[in-house]
Amino acid sequence: MGKQLLLENINVEGIRTLEVYRKMGGYASVEKAIKTMSPDAVTEEVKKSGLRGRGGAGFPTGMKWSFLAKPAGVPRYLVCNADESEPGTFKDRYLMEYIPHALIEGMITASFALGANKSFIYIRGEYFYISRILEHAIGEAYAAGWLGKNILGSGFDLDLTVQVGAGAYICGEETALLESLEGKRGNPRIKPPFPAVKGLYGCPTVVNNVETIAAVVPIVNHGGDEYAKIGLGKSTGTKLISASGNINKPGVYEIELGVPVEEFIFSDEYCGGIANGRKFKACVPGGSSVPILPADLMLKTSSGENRLMTYESLSEGGFATGSMLGSGGFIVYDDRACIVRSTYNFSHFYRHESCGQCSPCREGTAWMEKILHRLENGLGRIEDIDLLWDVQGKIEGRTICPLGDAAAWPVAAAIRHFRHEFEYHAKYPEKVKDPKHTPPPMPSLATVG
Ligand code: SF4
Repeated sequence: MGKQLLLENINVEGIRTLEVYRKMGGYASVEKAIKTMSPDAVTEEVKKSGLRGRGGAGFPTGMKWSFLAKPAGVPRYLVCNADESEPGTFKDRYLMEYIPHALIEGMITASFALGANKSFIYIRGEYFYISRILEHAIGEAYAAGWLGKNILGSGFDLDLTVQVGAGAYICGEETALLESLEGKRGNPRIKPPFPAVKGLYGCPTVVNNVETIAAVVPIVNHGGDEYAKIGLGKSTGTKLISASGNINKPGVYEIELGVPVEEFIFSDEYCGGIANGRKFKACVPGGSSVPILPADLMLKTSSGENRLMTYESLSEGGFATGSMLGSGGFIVYDDRACIVRSTYNFSHFYRHESCGQCSPCREGTAWMEKILHRLENGLGRIEDIDLLWDVQGKIEGRTICPLGDAAAWPVAAAIRHFRHEFEYHAKYPEKVKDPKHTPPPMPSLATVG
């Protein structure tokens, strides 16, 4: 098995069509699972593979599947979370747009494993054009007998529906997604009960990310043990990374987990280095909600080891010196980037997307945005930095869903690692009123690259 498991055929002409997808070996996992394996055996292979959820949380997929309650006579559902809304993350879009059958094949195989006869792909409203691509591909799969009644003569039935959301980030949270799918306002539910016990329409439900479901295809085709040989340690397999920011080659890359961060940023195989010959200043490695790290900590861990693209290495040192792999939204900043402005942008986003159910998130995100707005616009005071720190600290861990944490972590990390930039904004209001102002250099750390 090579390291391209999901995107291997992305450049094959016509790969969007069932005909070409089949010619390239597509739907083999469905045949193998339905004809030669039991549903529990498929789940066992996913467990053996070590696959972890690719949406951001990194929870072991096989374990999540094994939590699914199976009361007799009660339907079970598989729901694909295609509400990819995290700023900096656009990998699922790429997969669904160019190889829609990879997701559909994964949905059929996973639904078979879970005993689901009705499954959904919940896609964000901004990806409406992709919903049409998926619907066309689903139509092809129905016509060829991969969906519908008695698939491959096995007695297994599956209906697959694409549901388009209305464009709310919070509907990427699995219980908010289920509320929205049921036709209600997308408010996160209080857990427990978890969806595995009481999910869609009150029935046991598994919610998995697009990339996670697509990864079930190579796992079943090659076996969980083979899949687990790819990657490093508990970070098995490959990962789609959406790389953006001040790099020469932004785009979606499928990496084998374990690639050094330095190689990912600077090699021509991936990002191709920092654009316009600038210096590498900082990076948000896993989508806007994970902590930003300065260049030196992004390349080396606190113990001086090379930082690797794995769940473990990226979080080494906790939030004091580490971050998270998250959704793989990899945003690179060069030495001209203003961290205060970037943090303000993220705060504006989270304030706008808060559903408002819990006070720490509803009020805290608004206050963080307000304070950052005045700092960014030359109206801030030096005390604002401690006030901001205080506000973010009162959100984390005190909310119904992770959006509160997602809003607090970027602010905390920006102050932790780039406090001097916040001080600069407070001390030199006239300078920062110029949107093209040059941020001050790091006080003790040289930029790299
Ligand atoms: Fe809503 Fe924010 Fe509370 Fe999540 S944390 S439930 S988004 S108010």
